[in-house]
Amino acid sequence: MGIGDDMMWRAEAYHEYKRTGKKQRPYRKESNQYGSFLKDVWKNTPWLDFDNGVGFETHPKNNKRWYHNKTPYTPKIAPYDFTDMEEMFYKLNVQKYGDYVLINPDAKKSIFADNKKYFKWQEVVDLLQDYTLLRAKPNDAFIRNTNGQVNFTNLTNIPTNNVREAMIMVKYAKLVVTTEGGLHHAAGQMGVPCIVLYGSHQSPLRTGYEGQINITRKTHCNTDGLGCYVPKGACQYCEQAMESIEPGEIAQLVRENYDKDKTMV
Ligand SMILES: [Zn+2]
Repeated sequence: MGIGDDMMWRAEAYHEYKRTGKKQRPYRKESNQYGSFLKDVWKNTPWLDFDNGVGFETHPKNNKRWYHNKTPYTPKIAPYDFTDMEEMFYKLNVQKYGDYVLINPDAKKSIFADNKKYFKWQEVVDLLQDYTLLRAKPNDAFIRNTNGQVNFTNLTNIPTNNVREAMIMVKYAKLVVTTEGGLHHAAGQMGVPCIVLYGSHQSPLRTGYEGQINITRKTHCNTDGLGCYVPKGACQYCEQAMESIEPGEIAQLVRENYDKDKTMV
């Protein structure tokens, strides 16, 4: 599962824990297997117990995830607590920049993620130079924008060692700008304002959080707004949908939504 899936499962498990009073661990009925290794995103989560927890299904809908294909789903929310070490990471590496927009040009290095990738991040960055723009830069080998682009100019890299360090940068951001995926889930979980580039592959009706600003496109593969029906692999319509998102459109949304809470007071 991807990081977003892990976060959605974690929140479902939280509500199951609240309901039953019993700690949970990931379980996949189809293969009769417990997920045994502790992922970074699941660390410091008191309602999970990877040895003795009650098995909680990771693929409950016909052996698929909650939001599979055209199934509408609203991700649940669960609290995140960061460790002192993680807070220290923020204090040592990020706090000095003051208020910032977290720009996330990175995407998982996987063919399944290709339909969600965006190629005009540099132009977005160039249009927003009057803001402090930070990037939670992942390990190059693990995550990478399509076409192998890892370097951007005028975007401040904060090297992160794991997803939780990226998540604490989400926590303290004024605004997050990202394609649909792990960091949009992190922002949604923590109630941080977020502009999400959906295009047509995934849909806010399946992975969206209340209050997020979603850039969506209806295409031949997504006529009902519930996402792409092409099962797996590259989809030309999804590619075109992402291509149609103009950097100016994103920059305008940043200007309209940065500090929105303050201006509304
Ligand atoms: Zn598509």
